[in-house]
Amino acid sequence: MVELKTLEKLRIEKDRCKGCEYCVALCPKSVLEMSRELNARGVHYVRLIDPENCTSCMVCAIMCPDVCIEVYK
Ligand code: SF4
Ligand code: SF4
Repeated sequence: MVELKTLEKLRIEKDRCKGCEYCVALCPKSVLEMSRELNARGVHYVRLIDPENCTSCMVCAIMCPDVCIEVYK
């Protein structure tokens, strides 16, 4: 039986992220953090560090002022 790859829960357009950290501050599960690396805009971008505990609540996607995050169930 073929094992299906786990679908990613969030798609983050890292090079559009402006590093405001709204999503990090508002995630109810605290599963987001800022990267150490810089993106194309020269800022630390957000990344999902604990996909298992992301509930797909969409708070991050709704609150991102630059619409950088899409949530998949
Ligand atoms: S969908 Fe909800 S739980 Fe998942 S990273 Fe976004 S705010 Fe956090
Ligand atoms: S709210 Fe949007 S722009 Fe701000 S850190 Fe999160 S993904 Fe980046």
